[in-house]
Amino acid sequence: MHDDPPRDHEALDALGHEIRLAIIERLAAERRGSWRASGLEFAELRKAVGVDDPGQFNYHLDKLLDTFVEKRDAEYVVTTAGLEVAGTVEAGTYDPDDVSFTATVEATCTECGDHLEASYERGTLQVQCPEHGLFHGNAIPPAAVRDRDPETVVALTQLNARNELSRALEGACVHCWGTIDVETPVDPPAELLDDQQANADEVEQVVVEFACRDCGMTFWTAASITIVHHPAVVSFYHDHGVNVHDCGYLELAFVDGTNGIIESRDPVRVRIDVELESDVLRVWVDDSAEVVDTERT
Ligand SMILES: [Zn+2]
Ligand SMILES: [Zn+2]
Repeated sequence: MHDDPPRDHEALDALGHEIRLAIIERLAAERRGSWRASGLEFAELRKAVGVDDPGQFNYHLDKLLDTFVEKRDAEYVVTTAGLEVAGTVEAGTYDPDDVSFTATVEATCTECGDHLEASYERGTLQVQCPEHGLFHGNAIPPAAVRDRDPETVVALTQLNARNELSRALEGACVHCWGTIDVETPVDPPAELLDDQQANADEVEQVVVEFACRDCGMTFWTAASITIVHHPAVVSFYHDHGVNVHDCGYLELAFVDGTNGIIESRDPVRVRIDVELESDVLRVWVDDSAEVVDTERT
């Protein structure tokens, strides 16, 4: 956790005024145009934001300095933190209520073959089989959903999940970029079991936990998902005429949350079988979900 909550608190307080948000948005527009650190001088900025009184304007600008805005020579330039604030405000991340949908999508349930149902509400997309529970749940901002059809939203969400997973496997938190600890096997949290109850009695589920040391965010995935982009898996699919990078996780049968066998606990060895047209690729991962061995039969 951060050692200095009062400073974070002050930083967030600084955002609580419309003039200050307008300053950030105006400078963000300036910087986005060129993606370089260009800004505006005091008088230009004041006019652009539409404040007549220089004293009043300076008071608000001062509250943003060093956190959301910095001064470079004569210009005021938005910082990366300021750019992020402007982006989330513009994307409607804090006001997601106007966007929601429920739709049947092309992807099918690996248990029963029925089409899955996708629903988006309050910034979260869920893809599930009415019979067999949740397949995929992921946060995605309303800007990703507005003006797009459900099929595209599902594809984008999976692309995002893939990017986040790659980052997490490299040890960087998908939320704050802090340090993530990866561990398997762990007991899945109760909510996850509730969602997949139908599967849970049949095969032991091997779950990987990702826990951030800095912000505390924790999430879980099936062990099988962590190997999807390993070269052994990619080339195995390639030999069968399939480009894994074109597939959503929902299209890869082996990714089903029930795939994974704990062969040993000391040291940890979890075996995941990838089957295609009666060929089998076996992949073993260790306690940090790193691939330690593969074998094709
Ligand atoms: Zn089903
Ligand atoms: Zn974090």
